[in-house]
Amino acid sequence: MEKLFFKSPLFLQNLIISLFNTYLYSKRYGRKYKKYKKLFKSQDDLSFNELKNIQNEKFIKFINEAKFKSTFYKKFYKNIDLSTIKSISDIHKLPILKKEDLRKNINEVHTIKPKDGIISKTGGTTGKPLKVVFTIDDTNRRYAYLDNFRGQYGYKLGKKTAWFSGKNLLSKKDIKNNRFWKYDFINKVRYYSTFHINENYLKYYLNDLINFKPEFIVGFPSTLLEIANYGKRNGIVFPKNTIKAIFPTAETVSKEVRQILSIYYNTIVIDQYASSEGAPFIFQCKEGNYHLDIRTGVFEVLDHDNREVNQGRLVVTSFTTHGTPLIRYDIGDMIKKSDSPKCSCNNENPKIDKVIGRLNDYIFSKETGKINLGNVSNTLKGVEGIIKFQVVQKSIEEITILIVTDETFDKKNEKIFLKNWRDRVGQIMKIHVRRVDKILVEKSGKFRIVKNLIS
Ligand SMILES: [Zn+2]
Repeated sequence: MEKLFFKSPLFLQNLIISLFNTYLYSKRYGRKYKKYKKLFKSQDDLSFNELKNIQNEKFIKFINEAKFKSTFYKKFYKNIDLSTIKSISDIHKLPILKKEDLRKNINEVHTIKPKDGIISKTGGTTGKPLKVVFTIDDTNRRYAYLDNFRGQYGYKLGKKTAWFSGKNLLSKKDIKNNRFWKYDFINKVRYYSTFHINENYLKYYLNDLINFKPEFIVGFPSTLLEIANYGKRNGIVFPKNTIKAIFPTAETVSKEVRQILSIYYNTIVIDQYASSEGAPFIFQCKEGNYHLDIRTGVFEVLDHDNREVNQGRLVVTSFTTHGTPLIRYDIGDMIKKSDSPKCSCNNENPKIDKVIGRLNDYIFSKETGKINLGNVSNTLKGVEGIIKFQVVQKSIEEITILIVTDETFDKKNEKIFLKNWRDRVGQIMKIHVRRVDKILVEKSGKFRIVKNLIS
């Protein structure tokens, strides 16, 4: 099938993609999608107490259903009498579900057959991917939540959108012709490959993006950042007032990255947090603050002894995961709660300070502790000639930095770059800098600046 697809003429390929997406969308935006979207919109102005009541009610129903329908939870909760759990304040009676345990038991966790739901594969970086199954109903709900949120900025399906995600859609011929995208002309979505982001191709991406004139951009911020940096380096101005909003996906967006994107593409960047496993949603509001959407799940912030803290591991219970229930799931991200959870916008869902992102987005130094993605990106300050870099850490003692450079990179620049690193990791860490021709993206299509392999 795939061979046939890539051999067929371009028009046919686009048609197949358009039809396939329309089929996919008909599932996503199924019968109940519209109903849910209307419902969620009507809930936008609910008070905190009203939201809390919805959350409690859903929570009790959800855990009971999970124990009833999932073989795994039947065993996992064998010695727990769920009738003693009367509200979310009793949640600590339930055990925490670790990522590894979910992975190991995934087939028993499923409450439906994969073919009866929608499959999402996640996490190719450690071991085998996790196969999560969503029910059609939950999928409708998730897209209704997401589109209700994006709708506040004018987005809906059918508006011209540029999409940057981990789908590999290109044939050798496309690459030869410098065409790094496919177009779904029925739904007006142009899918750009995130697997071919390199210096030689970036101008084609940028030109096409300018010519296509999308109203919205959705996708990996790291890819958008590379295109923006290319445009800046080469003095290509992005036309003003074309893009209404950028909705980043899949990666944590640091303040620095947000600023670069919003200035270069001349638009607002509105972030949201969700994961391919189906975490409850965290949405950014017009004020730039993040809100936990408590209608979609329970968010706990815990330390290593599972005590409630202000900043720590995020443990989630997600009400849109009936196919693969996530209850007290240790998702591997960190968040910082806010001292003043009320926001000046009209959303009464609690405001948080920030999502700190995956633990493996950090470099660890014995001397200075954790260095986050924003700080890692800033090691390029005052440095010319580095087009792209990636830091790999395999042990606490050393890091390897792969760099792709152009002709302006010299000893002086290398010195500044190294000094920037020393400022962050201290004097003891061994730093190996290696010049390479290219740095590969992950299987998922994401480019990772920090690759931390310390478990
Ligand atoms: Zn707000």
